[in-house]
Amino acid sequence: MSSGNNSFIKLIKEIPKAEIHLHLEGLISVETIWKLIQENNLNFNGIKSKKDLVKRFNVNSLDEFIDLFINIIQASFIKEQDIIYLIEDAQQYLERNNIIHAEIFFAPSKFLQTGFSFSRMVDILEAGSIKIQEESGITVNYLIDVSRTFGNENAENNLDLLLNNPRRSIIGIGLGGAESSGPAEDYQTVFKRAADNKLKVVAHAGEDVGPKSIWDAINLLNVQRIGHGISAIQDEKLMTLLKNRQIPLEICPTSNLFTKKFVTKLEDHPIKAFYDMGLNVTLNSDDPTLFGSELVDEYILLFNKGIFNEKELLDIMKNTVYASYLTEKQKDNLWAEAQKVIDSYNI
Ligand SMILES: [Zn+2]
Repeated sequence: MSSGNNSFIKLIKEIPKAEIHLHLEGLISVETIWKLIQENNLNFNGIKSKKDLVKRFNVNSLDEFIDLFINIIQASFIKEQDIIYLIEDAQQYLERNNIIHAEIFFAPSKFLQTGFSFSRMVDILEAGSIKIQEESGITVNYLIDVSRTFGNENAENNLDLLLNNPRRSIIGIGLGGAESSGPAEDYQTVFKRAADNKLKVVAHAGEDVGPKSIWDAINLLNVQRIGHGISAIQDEKLMTLLKNRQIPLEICPTSNLFTKKFVTKLEDHPIKAFYDMGLNVTLNSDDPTLFGSELVDEYILLFNKGIFNEKELLDIMKNTVYASYLTEKQKDNLWAEAQKVIDSYNI
């Protein structure tokens, strides 16, 4: 690797960044789960030591991932206070990657089933956002993932809870979960109600399902951003619409390679085709701890594999800042800080 490459990689790390598609539970560290297992006296099959847990975190398939997520990670949370550890892991992740603004999904449904109080959970999220800003100068906002997995009634309930328990840092809702079993039309009224109440609305679409899912997210849910959206590559009309409206796509390459639904090799990922066509491409990590790739790693991967050059990656960084829900002034300020670092590197 030439020194030019090395200095660009250093720049990727140093430049202040935004990230707009990541899940709070996907930021959890092995250390935290180990701590929770001990504190909560939990007994999981096959996990007798931290070493066993590290092995279990090393997932190689979607089935292993789902098993880890449901049977270990979510099952380790016994009381609302445990969520504080998630925030601590998030803070470390953001600092490590020099992310100075993040919009993070939080999925309350499983916790509500466990019996956690919504207002107590959002209090913890809000306190966490304030603490991170005070200690690190990083702004953190949340989007409540109303999840396709738990059905429409649950989503309506999540929205009711949010409207009854508003917090400054919780800015909207997102639709995540099993895309194939929860079509957008089932969530039309929830999304309309959220938008009528001035909440931001986003949806995962075109991650596991073809272009129709993206059309529906745009036309039926009126979302402002699309999570993933990679199946748009199959539909030229849709790509033209995404380009004309400049609807940001929250692209997470490693996550897509992991789920293997539409791409199995980075070289086949549509991110470059989207960018070349003039779509609004942003770069994100989705579940960094679980997929073993943090935001900085995603940029480095695309650079080292020759998918994008320096200028293009800086462009994507800028898109990500401007696709966020910061005010225009905050976006300009964030990007001015980034530009200072870029200028000091002479790229
Ligand atoms: Zn996601």
